[in-house]
Amino acid sequence: MTINNTFVYLEKRYLFSEIASRVAEYRKSHPGAEILPLGIGDVTLPLAEPMTRALVKASAEMGTPKGFHGYAPDGGYPFLRRAIASYYARLGVSLSPEEIFVSDGAKTDLGAIGEIFEGGTAVLSDPIYPVFYESSLLAGRPVVLLAATEKNGYRPMPDALSEKESYLIYLCSPNNPTGVAYSSAELQQWVDFARRSGSLILFDACYEAYLSSDGFHSILEADGAETCAVEIGSFSKNAGFTGLRCSYTIVSNRILLDGRSVREAWARRQSVKFNGVSYPVERAAEAALSREGIASWRKQVDYYRENARILAGVLTEKGIPFVGGKDSPYLWLSCGKDSWQFFSELLDATGIVGTPGVGFGKAGEGLFRLSSFGSRETMEKAAERFYTFL
Ligand code: PLP
Repeated sequence: MTINNTFVYLEKRYLFSEIASRVAEYRKSHPGAEILPLGIGDVTLPLAEPMTRALVKASAEMGTPKGFHGYAPDGGYPFLRRAIASYYARLGVSLSPEEIFVSDGAKTDLGAIGEIFEGGTAVLSDPIYPVFYESSLLAGRPVVLLAATEKNGYRPMPDALSEKESYLIYLCSPNNPTGVAYSSAELQQWVDFARRSGSLILFDACYEAYLSSDGFHSILEADGAETCAVEIGSFSKNAGFTGLRCSYTIVSNRILLDGRSVREAWARRQSVKFNGVSYPVERAAEAALSREGIASWRKQVDYYRENARILAGVLTEKGIPFVGGKDSPYLWLSCGKDSWQFFSELLDATGIVGTPGVGFGKAGEGLFRLSSFGSRETMEKAAERFYTFL
C-alpha cells in the first residue's frame, strides 16, 4: 500500500500554516513586538445575541428528555432548510427544502463535491482560494487555470474555453483573494457557457453579504442556472460561524448529467460520508436567518466594511493600485515585487501580517492580500504603520 500519489502535486504546507510558522519565527526574533494580523480570513467579532440565545436555548433542550436530539437528518433539520429557502426567496429564487443540504462548512463541501463526478476538467481562476485547486489535484482531476489579472479586471471569463468540452467550473464571487465581484451580466455569461458546453458550475457564495454593488447575490438568480449550477453558502463570514461551523449546498432537482440527477448523487454521497450538523448549531443558523439575526450580522458586516474603507484610504492616498474592499473584506494590492519578500519586509518593519498573493496561485505574484476582519483598533494602527511603510 502507498499514499495516494496525488499528494505529490501539493505544496508541502498549506498556505496559512506557512504564514503561521513565519510569524512564529518573527515572534521569537522580535520578543514583545506587537503583531497586527491582517492575514487569515477569520472573523473576529463575537457572535451576536440572537444566535447565542438560540444556541443556549437549544443546548438546554438537549439536556431534557423531550428536547434531546440525536443524529441530525443528513440534509439538515427541516426548520433550517425552510429558513434557507426563505432567505433565497428574497432574491426571487425558489427552492424546495430537499434541494438544500446543510453541512458543517463550505470548505467541507467544496473539497468533497468533486468526487461525485467522473471526468471533466476543473476550471479555476488563478489566484484562487486554495481549497478549490488542491482538492481538484487530490481528486486527480485535470485543471485549467484562467488568470485573473488587472487586464481582465480580475474577473476571467470563459472566452478561451472550448464549448466541445464539459468542465467543472469553480466560481467565487465576491472573490477570495481578489475581493472583486462579477457583475450579473458576467455571471449570466458563465451560466450560458455552462449550458452550451454541458459544464457544471460550483458557485461559492460565502461572501455574498459583502456585495455592495448591484448584482446577483446568488448564481441561481441567473436564467437557466438551476440546470447547471450548484451553490455553496456559509454562515462563517456573515454571521461569524467560523468556530461554530454551518453551511449549505444547494443542488437543484433540475441538474442532470447524462440523464442522472446530481442532487440524488450528492444526497447519496452525504448519506455515506456525513452525519449531520448538531441541533444547537442548526438552531443558531436558523436564528441567523431571522429578521433580528440578519439585522445583527449586517451590523458586523458593515463594521468590517468600514475597516476595509480605512485600509483602502491609505492605499489610495499612497497611489498603490488595488482592487477589492468594496464588495468583500479583502483588498488585493500590487506590491511591485516578489510577494513573499513584501510579506517579510512588511512584517519586519511594521508587525503587519498579510498574505502573499503568490500563495493563491502564480498569477498572484507581485500582489498581496489584506483582510479587514479585525478590530477597529488593529485597522487604525495598521493603517498608520502601513502609511509610513509605503
Ligand atoms: N470559501 C471561501 C472562498 C473562503 O474564503 C472560505 C474561508 O476562508 C471558505 C469557503 C470556508 O468557509 P467555511 O468556514 O464555511 O468552511
